[in-house]
Amino acid sequence: MALKSSWIDGWVSRRVSLWLLLLALVTALMGLLIWLAGRYESSLVQTRLEDNAAQAVTDIRSGLNRNLQAIQALHARERSVQEWQLSAGQLLHERREMQRLEWRDEALGVKGFVETPFRKSVFEQIQRGSVQADVAMVCSAARRMSGPAYSVSYFLPQVDGLGLEVSDACLPVMESGRLTGYAVVTYSLQGLLSELVSRPLSQRVGLSLTEADGTRLAMHGTPARGSRTFVARQLLDLPGSTMVVRMESRLGTPALFPNVLTALVTAMALALLVVLFLLGRDMRRRLQAENDLGEALAFRKAMENSLLTGLRARDLQGRITYVNPAFCKMVGAEARELLNQSMPSPYWPPELAGVYQRRQEMRLAGNHLPREGHESVFMRKDGTRFPVLIMEAPLINAVGKHTGWMSAILDVSEQRRTEEISRASQDRLQASARLAMVGEMASLLSHELNQPLAAISSYATGSLNLLADASAGDQAPDAPALLDDLRLAMRRIAEQAERAGKVIKSVHDFVRRSERVREAVEPRALLDAIMPLVILQARKLGVRISLEVDETCPPVLCDRTMVEQVLLNLARNGMQAMQCGNDAETALPASLQPEKVLTLRIRPAASNAHSQWVEFAVSDQGEGISAEVARQLFTPFFTTKREGMGLGLSLCRTVIEQHGGFLGYESVQPQGTIFSFTLPVAAASPAAGAAMQNTPGES
Ligand code: ADP
Repeated sequence: MALKSSWIDGWVSRRVSLWLLLLALVTALMGLLIWLAGRYESSLVQTRLEDNAAQAVTDIRSGLNRNLQAIQALHARERSVQEWQLSAGQLLHERREMQRLEWRDEALGVKGFVETPFRKSVFEQIQRGSVQADVAMVCSAARRMSGPAYSVSYFLPQVDGLGLEVSDACLPVMESGRLTGYAVVTYSLQGLLSELVSRPLSQRVGLSLTEADGTRLAMHGTPARGSRTFVARQLLDLPGSTMVVRMESRLGTPALFPNVLTALVTAMALALLVVLFLLGRDMRRRLQAENDLGEALAFRKAMENSLLTGLRARDLQGRITYVNPAFCKMVGAEARELLNQSMPSPYWPPELAGVYQRRQEMRLAGNHLPREGHESVFMRKDGTRFPVLIMEAPLINAVGKHTGWMSAILDVSEQRRTEEISRASQDRLQASARLAMVGEMASLLSHELNQPLAAISSYATGSLNLLADASAGDQAPDAPALLDDLRLAMRRIAEQAERAGKVIKSVHDFVRRSERVREAVEPRALLDAIMPLVILQARKLGVRISLEVDETCPPVLCDRTMVEQVLLNLARNGMQAMQCGNDAETALPASLQPEKVLTLRIRPAASNAHSQWVEFAVSDQGEGISAEVARQLFTPFFTTKREGMGLGLSLCRTVIEQHGGFLGYESVQPQGTIFSFTLPVAAASPAAGAAMQNTPGES
């Protein structure tokens, strides 16, 4: 027991640690998945940002090129400074990033200029002249390259206390291949970002222009801060100047669900957790169910082991699938010797195997056996037979399919023995009661008859003495006196004889008085009244009862108790005559014995339907009546049975004759005897019935 519980403990703890391991693995897997999804999403955002930064650079570059083309067109179109200023003013109105546009001659002297109309002059604080050297440098670079050149950016403090980072671009103005001057445009770097970069790109990002070392020059939008900030840098390479466009972006969504993918993975992980939890609960329930099942099984096992009733299950082919210990004990065999055994079963007596087999086939054919059970005989391993009562029920499995038969088997040997003992003692009691009554009657008769017989005897002796004296005397006898004495004695003898006769008649009358209650009774009712007793004995002796009742028979007039007694006696005699020495204890049930039939028949006595008599017959297949027995059959106290009284048949005849009927017998072929008697029909003999009632002792 202790070993078992420690084994169970070990198993439970191993199970728990397995669950913990599974939980840890799933959690790690989930974390990894979420992290990978986050990383993947970050890389996507980064790539998108890089692309946007490159696009911003392209936007700025193409914006600058557009501006240069516009300036070139301006110079090609306008000849006079005034007209140029007018057109240039319009251009600056359109292009907000340009802060100032100058037309300079070949010596870099300012021919004319316009400033942006959107703000005060950027050169208000610092004079334009102070950056002349820078302009000269960029224009010489432009002349060298015969194309536009950009200056390194420089800071212009403003009157409002703030400042502005600007860069000059110089474009040589050519006329017929000859340099005629320069166009110098001053760009606000912040304007480049806000005006040239397309709106979708600059929205929700921090856009800035920095130097190569990271020094921020201009800024547009709000710079991103925080841990999840993405930065993309792209080089803005202009002739004569190189800057870096920096784009900053921050993931606006909450950190836990940065994107749909991560959310999806998290949801799946959560679902996995839920499934795990459900699985765990399911396992717990299963474990509980297993425990319950184990307990139920143990309970069932204990119950089966303690049962005295044998249990046996068979499948539809008749193979034994289960036996309980009580059944094994009953038939004296081990369970393994019985299990899977097909027909004939090892506990079937060989002589009855055929009958059992037929019964089994009937069952398999779907003819259900009675639920109240049937009797049978089984054989122990040592060959002894014993009677059993079998109750069978169909075995229905969990899905409602009929899979076999379950039988409860009771060993009824003890019950049989008790029944037999009680029956025998009842018979003995009845016999003793009858004998006692006969004895009492005899002593009463002898007492009552003693006196008249003694008187008769003494009168006879006296008479003889008188006659002897008369013949031996010397003198002649006084003849008249002698005759008178003798006459008196004879008269006395006659009187006493008459008295004795009266005693006998009074006893006879007494006996008859109790038998005179006659009534009209349905013949069938007489049979029905004795059937329970007859069936009981028939079952014990293995006899089948066959009834042949002509239901058209009219009621008979009789003392029903007496006639029932006659019928019972004849039936019992018939069954006993058929008994072939079976041991009462192991007597086979009627269904299993070689057919022995006792027929009880009722029909009109004559063949015509209007017969005034009804015939009752009891026919057996017994040993018959030998000539020697036949001679004394109706003699009182004649019997061939060990415990018989020999009064049955003589009383039967008396009773029937009292009813005016006739009791007789004849032998039956091939063997057996038929006893029959007749009784008068009730309606036909009302007078007779009345007479019988009024005239006691009539036979
Ligand atoms: P008991 O039954 O007490 O012996 P009965 O008067 O009923 O007294 O029977 C007398 C005898 O007649 C029986 O012992 C038996 O030998 C014989 N006898 C009666 N009925 C039959 C019968 N149906 N077949 C053969 N013998 C019978």
